[in-house]
Amino acid sequence: MKRLLYSFLIFLLCGIPLTVRANESKDPQPVVIIGSGVGALTSAVYLQRAGVNTLVIEGENPGGAITQSPNVQNWPGELEINGQILVEKIRKQAEENGAKFVSQEVIAVDFTKRPFIITMRDVYDHEKMQTIEAKSCIIAMGSMPKLLGIPGESGDGGYWTRGVYSCAVCDGALYRGKNVAVIGGGDAAILEADYLSNIAKKVYVILRSDQFRTIEILRKNALIKKPNVEVLYNTKIDQITGNGQNVTHLNLSTKNDLPIDGVFVSIGANPNSEIFKHQLDLDENGYIRLKQDQLTSVPGVFAIGDIVDPHYKQAISAAGHGATAALQVERYLSGLPKEEFQPKSTQKIAQKTSGKTLSARVNEISNTDEFYRAIGQNDTPLLVEFYSPTCGPCKQLSPKLDQAADNYQGKIRFIKVDVTKFSDLANSYNVYGVPTAMIFDNQGKVVKRASGLEKISKILINLDKYTSK
Ligand SMILES: Cc1cc2nc3c(=O)[nH]c(=O)nc-3n(C[C@H](O)[C@H](O)[C@H](O)COP(=O)(O)OP(=O)(O)OC[C@H]3O[C@@H](n4cnc5c(N)ncnc54)[C@H](O)[C@@H]3O)c2cc1C
Repeated sequence: MKRLLYSFLIFLLCGIPLTVRANESKDPQPVVIIGSGVGALTSAVYLQRAGVNTLVIEGENPGGAITQSPNVQNWPGELEINGQILVEKIRKQAEENGAKFVSQEVIAVDFTKRPFIITMRDVYDHEKMQTIEAKSCIIAMGSMPKLLGIPGESGDGGYWTRGVYSCAVCDGALYRGKNVAVIGGGDAAILEADYLSNIAKKVYVILRSDQFRTIEILRKNALIKKPNVEVLYNTKIDQITGNGQNVTHLNLSTKNDLPIDGVFVSIGANPNSEIFKHQLDLDENGYIRLKQDQLTSVPGVFAIGDIVDPHYKQAISAAGHGATAALQVERYLSGLPKEEFQPKSTQKIAQKTSGKTLSARVNEISNTDEFYRAIGQNDTPLLVEFYSPTCGPCKQLSPKLDQAADNYQGKIRFIKVDVTKFSDLANSYNVYGVPTAMIFDNQGKVVKRASGLEKISKILINLDKYTSK
């Protein structure tokens, strides 16, 4: 009933026909990441490696803002890399660790409920909507640079990323020894112009009004004293003109055309935070306010990247936020009451075994005698998993072991050995990495061993050949 009311509310807010497919049969997602830029993808890599199943809602722009840059030159470890290729690499890493992606965009959230309710629509067919539930959420929806809206800037025939940019730190190095213009008179424009003045031959700072909008007077004074900086006050730009390949000059309404090689528009950005207006604490410009590291005003909701960052807006800083938020989510989820974090299906089985085991039917040994007793003669073969509590792939393997233990009940026994407690045991079986699994036959002989999530998972789906005949 509540969900119906909620759907009706969305209908009123959005004014579009609603066909919400409520996700009623499914358990809430442990974590949902909204956005698929560098920040989001980094979070997904970290979360999956920590064993937290992660759903990434990609939005209309998979890969985010960096995909617009053909030559990123400040990503550590890469002298130069195409932005699209950069995000594809991180996405592949997230996917190979198990992250799931959906081509949806979020149109509403309800963070007042637990689990949170997230309503999204198909990016190709806006009438297809659905609601999902999440225990935690990372918001990574970025921001949109404000543009002048003049001919030659963006769109068809425009020079966006071919001479018109919004980030000097990102693209300024392409203009070494050349003439550039910075448009804007606020703090960000002053920083951009200052940065460019150390690279470019000449920097024009172009202001609509007769003064800068800054309280950092010293910084502004230092800038305008620089020999290669010239400020053009009360100047309106009518058009950005080029030769079809590059920008060549600016058409100014008040002066002669200004020959120029590159233009940096620095008149602010709009964080994509509209849908959080009545859900989260935002600052006066719409950036999401943070409480502790990446935590927002709502426990369990974290925000990263350009949507929280009015000043720096860098791919690497978004990625750094992404890593921090993932670690915070992991801690948040493990601090939740167990019944809230565990999927319902596992809860039921776990109750039966009253917390004695890590997973449903996979007993954890508490001393070495138990281990030797288990591998001793027995009609039923034994699968032993060597694991460590902090190993992400071990956590990912855990539900698969549970499932296998369920499927092969009475045919194979399963136990777990924590190598941090029983390192001698692990050494004596030449266990050099976790997870490692071994199958012992009914004589106590190792008949199969495998290491790593992928290899062990393959064994688990094909256990028949080891079962007692
Ligand atoms: C042309 C250009 C060149 C740049 N060059 C560089 C550079 O060389 N070096 C550098 O460090 N930085 C560069 N940047 C800046 C860098 O791209 C950003 O700082 C970085 O991408 C921010 O990452 P993010 O994760 O915050 O979000 P973004 O990359 O902005 O991604 C936002 C994501 O949110 C998704 N989204 C938005 N709304 C919704 C919704 N309602 N539902 C679901 N998803 C949604 C979008 O689809 C997108 O995937 C450049 C930016 C631009 C525009």
